[in-house]
Amino acid sequence: MTFVRYNGTHLCPEHFLRYVDRRVKREIRKQIDVDHGDHIAVAVSGGKDSMVALKMLASVFNRKTGVELHAITIDEGIDGYRPPSVDIVRRFCSENDVRFHLRSFSELGVTMDDIAPVCGDSSPCTYCGVFRRMLMNDEARKVDAKYLATGHNLDDMAQSIMMNFVRGDAERMARMAPHDVVRPGLIPRFVPLREIPEKETLLYAMLSGLEFWDGVCPYWEAALRNQYRDIVDQLEDRSPGARYGILSSYDTIKPLLRSGLKGADLHSCPRCGEPTLGSSCKSCQLLERIRARVGEAHAQDDTDE
Ligand code: SF4
Ligand code: ZN
Repeated sequence: MTFVRYNGTHLCPEHFLRYVDRRVKREIRKQIDVDHGDHIAVAVSGGKDSMVALKMLASVFNRKTGVELHAITIDEGIDGYRPPSVDIVRRFCSENDVRFHLRSFSELGVTMDDIAPVCGDSSPCTYCGVFRRMLMNDEARKVDAKYLATGHNLDDMAQSIMMNFVRGDAERMARMAPHDVVRPGLIPRFVPLREIPEKETLLYAMLSGLEFWDGVCPYWEAALRNQYRDIVDQLEDRSPGARYGILSSYDTIKPLLRSGLKGADLHSCPRCGEPTLGSSCKSCQLLERIRARVGEAHAQDDTDE
């Protein structure tokens, strides 16, 4: 029998899986409140984290509970990277009674393969993240989801908290999921894996025989998050438990951050209808900028041919 070394103790695979199940189910109960007839959306890329989140939610909210689960996958238009993962999500959904929804950047008239060569000083991930969140929220709203789950694990949470601290972005930090306040037009997000370290989600996926996509995005190197990944990894190496420490400090100050925020006045973006604070949403602003650049690059290609 294989044993998993964990927290100075050894767990056999079966106990390790149960141990993770228990912690994730506790988080789900803590973060959301669902009734018969509710719909829950899950943002699923097909990678290990989102597939584990989907599997857990599918085991909690099966037909008997009367809660309908919707997996939403966004195709960013990255050749060779996204298509195989979409197939994995689609397969899981058809075998597990989950409704599958696919949205694509091509609906916006651009793909990440168009954007990456022309995004200049910004990282491609800046565009990718904004467009993905916009399409995800739009689809979750269309399926009438009460909540939207994402697969962020403990490492992701610690990196995001550090990133917002360093940027001095208290607003963004206060608005990190799980959301307990419903804001107009925004589906509240929750994060069932927020206490599970990345290595454990990988182990869980492998031990439970879950199919997932482990391809690496060709634009990954440029992600700002990687700097914070290294910092958090170093902290964890030197002071084991640092990631939990960052998360629990954040949980302590979150109510204070929230109470210090002005009640932001969200309204619909006049161009696309997504909620925004400004005269147009971030996604429309970035789209306008990048469409012009992509258009110029294509025109240049035509001239060169
Ligand atoms: Fe998008 Fe960046 Fe993730 Fe690639 S690494 S899928 S560009 S956010
Ligand atoms: Zn807009």
